Amino acid sequence: MITNYHRPQTLDEALALLSQPNTVPLGGGTLLSHASPDPVSVVDLQALGLNYLRPKGNTLEIGATVTLQQLLESEYCPPALKTAIKLEAPLNLRNTATVAGTLVTCDGRSTFACAMLALDAKLSVVSDQLSVIGIGEFLPLRPRGLITQIVIPLNVHFAFEYVARTPSDKPIVCAALTQWNSGRTRLALGGWGKSPSLAMDGDLPPSPSGRGNEGEGLTAAARNACHEAADEFASAEYRMDVAAILAKRCLAGIPINP
Ligand SMILES: Cc1cc2nc3c(=O)[nH]c(=O)nc-3n(C[C@H](O)[C@H](O)[C@H](O)COP(=O)(O)OP(=O)(O)OC[C@H]3O[C@@H](n4cnc5c(N)ncnc54)[C@H](O)[C@@H]3O)c2cc1C
Repeated sequence: MITNYHRPQTLDEALALLSQPNTVPLGGGTLLSHASPDPVSVVDLQALGLNYLRPKGNTLEIGATVTLQQLLESEYCPPALKTAIKLEAPLNLRNTATVAGTLVTCDGRSTFACAMLALDAKLSVVSDQLSVIGIGEFLPLRPRGLITQIVIPLNVHFAFEYVARTPSDKPIVCAALTQWNSGRTRLALGGWGKSPSLAMDGDLPPSPSGRGNEGEGLTAAARNACHEAADEFASAEYRMDVAAILAKRCLAGIPINP
């Protein structure tokens, strides 16, 4: 239950309020506004000007209070990321839920977090000092602190594929793949557990046919990441098979470098 509400006008003011006990940031409030027996003080971030989306060099800077829908509608949002965002939440929630709040509360079925993991998003987190943390480090630990910004690369190829009970349901398995022009390839899988999993981050071995051995390395990595992926929705064996196919589909959707 929210017992105290603050709306600071500056980041310093917000940080001072957040240093008080039992006080947390309020993003869209879609989760924090749920009924709860525990009293909590909230610091509303909406007046801090953190709702920007701005390209900087080869990256996109996404302010922490940008809503999922704002990102989805942005001209800078890759088409495959739009698919992942649509699966994250229905329109009413997307209009309110923020990118930072979604990453703080996500579980392994979060398509948005899976996409951010594949994109190797960098989070600016302020606690005692400002740190820039890779999403791969952030998700398992969820360190306390105020997320102010998320940065993703723009000069990459990004693909997203999923399997679910219905087209708009949360995936049983999803795969997000980012490929940099250097050949660096990063595959994230989601659909189970507490957080999406990083299956691979490295160079795919070159193949004269364009896509040959590369695909084998990727599918092996996808299978390996699913060894303990059993839950009430699917067995680990099922997820291993599906993840390998989705990883291949992602790779097939990415243009071959000359
Ligand atoms: C009807 C309904 C259905 C939902 N279904 C799902 C679901 O299927 N799966 C799911 O995962 N969630 C679900 N949610 C929860 C919620 O929608 C998401 O977790 C949402 O993305 C949270 O974003 P928010 O901005 O509203 O966060 P808030 O509710 O504002 O905050 C959530 C948490 O994030 C923290 N936080 C927010 N912003 C920051 C920041 N900048 N820095 C640090 N911490 C921050 C808050 O302190 C709080 O702990 C549902 C909610 C509703 C109302």
